[in-house]
Amino acid sequence: MSDFRPILSSLHNHTTYCDGKQSPKEMIEAALSFGITDFGLSAHSRAPFDPAYSVKDERAYIQEVRALKAAYAGRLNVYVGTEVDLLAPPAYPDAYEYTVASTHYVEKNETIYSIDGPVESLVRCLDEGFNGDPAALSAAYFQNVIACVRTGADILGHFDLIKKRAAGRIDFSADYYVEPALDALRFAAKSGIVIEVNYGGVLKAGLDQPYPGLPLLAELKRLGGRVTVSTDCHDAAFIGFGLREGRRLLKDLGFARVCQFADGRFIDVPL
Ligand SMILES: [Zn+2]
Ligand SMILES: [Zn+2]
Repeated sequence: MSDFRPILSSLHNHTTYCDGKQSPKEMIEAALSFGITDFGLSAHSRAPFDPAYSVKDERAYIQEVRALKAAYAGRLNVYVGTEVDLLAPPAYPDAYEYTVASTHYVEKNETIYSIDGPVESLVRCLDEGFNGDPAALSAAYFQNVIACVRTGADILGHFDLIKKRAAGRIDFSADYYVEPALDALRFAAKSGIVIEVNYGGVLKAGLDQPYPGLPLLAELKRLGGRVTVSTDCHDAAFIGFGLREGRRLLKDLGFARVCQFADGRFIDVPL
């Protein structure tokens, strides 16, 4: 069913202002070619402890995307967004038209470990920070996810990102993992935050399922959670990746609606 329509908004995208490959303009041009109607850029909020990964010049980023928003008005709705890490608040929170709240790090004993970077970092987090205890790390990770929801962000980013680097070190079917994951999922669903079905791990890490994985998505459907689809795009060659697949997956799972951003707000689109 490759003819299934893609969702036409895309709010989770990166540029050379953080760890993406292209300029904002190049990403916007690619979005326009794909047929996206509402396109947001979401630079990583500035993390002083991880400068290579996060926004390099937040003020210039905001100014440039605002100028592009004006330049493309009438052809494509462009939005100034940010992907806020829990441990790295943005310097100009009021400048953004929407926020994605994400957990990329876990802090333990005053050390911040990336769980999104190289696998060595995840291993160090587990072994050094959590004494090799996968249950303690899983619990800490999902506590951060709950804290992301509490920030009041519009979108909850890559719900179970921890699975990206932890295969073979965390048993994702064990109660010690499933229970805190479900606690966080219930909390998120009840809050009304829009939870993204994120294809970044499928595209970049070879995962066979988006974030959240299928069992969690099935539970999210049961809970009545609000969902959208995100590419988490870092390369214009893959603009729109997952927007069609994600919409179809949600339909297959029995979701009745998907949230699509249109003219600056989420609308519920029937599937
Ligand atoms: Zn992220
Ligand atoms: Zn991202």
